[in-house]
Amino acid sequence: MGLAVAARLSEDLQDVFVLEKNTRFGQETSGHNSAVIHSGIHYPPKSLKAELCVQGNKMLYSICEKHGVPFKRLGKLTVAIEDEEVDEIERLMRQGEANGVEELRMIGGEEVKRLEPMVEVERALYSPTTGILEPDELMNYFYAEIQRHGGMFVPVTEVTSMGKVGDDYEVGGISSDEKFRIRAETVINCAGLNSDRVASMAGMDIDRLGYRLHWCKGDYFRVGGKPLVKMLVYPVPKGPGLGIHLTPDMAGGIRLGPNAYYVHDVSYEVESSEKEFRSDVERFLPSIVKREIRADSAGVRPKLEGPGQGFRDFVIRHEAERGLFGLINLVGIESPGLTASPAIAEFVSRLYHDEIAK
Ligand SMILES: Cc1cc2nc3c(=O)[nH]c(=O)nc-3n(C[C@H](O)[C@H](O)[C@H](O)COP(=O)(O)OP(=O)(O)OC[C@H]3O[C@@H](n4cnc5c(N)ncnc54)[C@H](O)[C@@H]3O)c2cc1C
Repeated sequence: MGLAVAARLSEDLQDVFVLEKNTRFGQETSGHNSAVIHSGIHYPPKSLKAELCVQGNKMLYSICEKHGVPFKRLGKLTVAIEDEEVDEIERLMRQGEANGVEELRMIGGEEVKRLEPMVEVERALYSPTTGILEPDELMNYFYAEIQRHGGMFVPVTEVTSMGKVGDDYEVGGISSDEKFRIRAETVINCAGLNSDRVASMAGMDIDRLGYRLHWCKGDYFRVGGKPLVKMLVYPVPKGPGLGIHLTPDMAGGIRLGPNAYYVHDVSYEVESSEKEFRSDVERFLPSIVKREIRADSAGVRPKLEGPGQGFRDFVIRHEAERGLFGLINLVGIESPGLTASPAIAEFVSRLYHDEIAK
């Protein structure tokens, strides 16, 4: 988010700096995801997640085509195994259409077999605009744009304090073992898993405002042998994730996952059992039983909803009404954040120009 937003803002503004605590970008959530360009079927109409995902999907394909970011428009099947799951994929189709997702289609068992011979279900929702991309290359593109516009990416620089001083913010922390303090007219908090903490540095009561994040981990396994599917194949979502699905990657391999469980610490070690993954996928892809699968990687979602809680939208807000003119918070940017990234950047740029720079 920081790179995407800075790439967009530095088109119009001088002195745009991205402060990053790690030695390079993409070491946290953006480097540990499914790399899927989502279509936008999963989010309630009029939510930011829905609107920014659908816009971001189109913008991402165009960025990838124009700037050589590797991608594949593979299409996706969301499969229904039981009767009530048929109702659910029909609901997803209506929701997707209300969100403006194009080309959605319900298909029957025969067409599923033609598209994906190994998948055994009677009904599926086909979404041709879903795809995959190379997230590192997308981040490299945003980084190059920042540099081209004269902005700066500053690694090994952790923000530990922030306070209002007159009309500005004083942002402090540690940069390469040295303390630093800078003055900024505008601060855009894109701190991912720490974005609630960064908001609290500015004096915000994150519990009262509902900004406290719950970290929700997802593990991946890799399937050995020849690819079992060509497209993305998802079950009907249940629980806090989208269900264990099959995602081809850009190198032609297939990953299973991610599952979803809440954690208190961030680690990228796979902690789940192979059995859970096999049994979930076996319901629609019986041939998985013959395949070797091995632990691959993991990612951690910055979720606003805690265990058992309902849908929460992205928070992308200029906090002027709360006495923090010039602070824009991005909190809870979980999936579809990668897909939405160029649209989020555009949204933040509009907030900046309409409310801060006017
Ligand atoms: C398992 C999983 C699968 C996903 N799959 C998809 C998908 O297929 N498609 C999709 O669209 N989205 C997906 N997402 C969501 C997507 O990955 C995120 O929305 C996106 O990467 C969030 O980007 P970010 O910049 O907010 O966070 P990050 O990439 O985590 O970046 C935040 C940065 O802030 C830095 N930082 C934090 N605190 C400080 C501080 N105090 N000072 C300085 N720097 C700081 C961090 O070091 C980090 O580099 C997935 C997420 C997960 C976890």
